[in-house]
Amino acid sequence: MEQIKEFTSAVELHGYELYELPTGYCERSGWLITGRTVTGELRHYAPLRQFPGLYRTFSSTKEEPTAIKEFANKYGLLGGNIGAIVPVPEEPAPYRQAMGEFLEDWYQEIRSMRRFVSLWDGLLAARKSGLQPQLVVQGSDSFLVGSGGSQIASQHADALLFDSLRLGDTLRPALAYLQVEVNRRLDLHLVVPRLALDFGQTSIVGAFMPDSLLGAIWTDFYVAITEGKGPEEYKTCASCGRFFEKILARRRDAIYCSDACKSKAYRRRM
Ligand SMILES: [Zn+2]
Repeated sequence: MEQIKEFTSAVELHGYELYELPTGYCERSGWLITGRTVTGELRHYAPLRQFPGLYRTFSSTKEEPTAIKEFANKYGLLGGNIGAIVPVPEEPAPYRQAMGEFLEDWYQEIRSMRRFVSLWDGLLAARKSGLQPQLVVQGSDSFLVGSGGSQIASQHADALLFDSLRLGDTLRPALAYLQVEVNRRLDLHLVVPRLALDFGQTSIVGAFMPDSLLGAIWTDFYVAITEGKGPEEYKTCASCGRFFEKILARRRDAIYCSDACKSKAYRRRM
């Protein structure tokens, strides 16, 4: 599984910008996020190796422009099917073409990841407790409710799942649904075996390479599922808010994800 982690992603050194594209310039309009420069000075990193648990950080990202900008400045644009060539405002000419991503698409991806993470957490808890998630009808919607009483899926969002649920038999169909849906994302992001240079570029390794950061985030989720990792395996950094694996923390009571976040927090306190 180590080889899966060699995938590298790039982040604009100068950060990303938000702007609103008016109607009439492109098929779509609305708020976009884009790199500031076309020449692009980039910082490269290996998201799967450096930030395992990124899928949880992504799924808990707020659906608002500043939170998206903050995520992009740290980890880059999502890419894949979300990336598009769009008009970007420029001085003095009105617009030039550049890579951009609609915030609406980010929101949709975050919501989708959040749905499946919550389903996975609920199913993992169900498997551990030996209790089947309960089918509960409430108003015009039906829900799957986990052992802790939290909703882990709704008919409104996951219609296909609810077609296959039977009273007293919810765990198996829900696991099958999660399997199909995660596999669909891995297909979509072309997560297939490839030869790749390792991060130090001194040897060649076999790796499952996603096509984009978004693909890497789904791959990160895939790894967590195959390793049976649930919410109790992670902590949120008290400084930057990112999820990190407890097992990777140097101390059991660590509250920061890295030395950098620890010293940033100490500086803030002074
Ligand atoms: Zn941190």
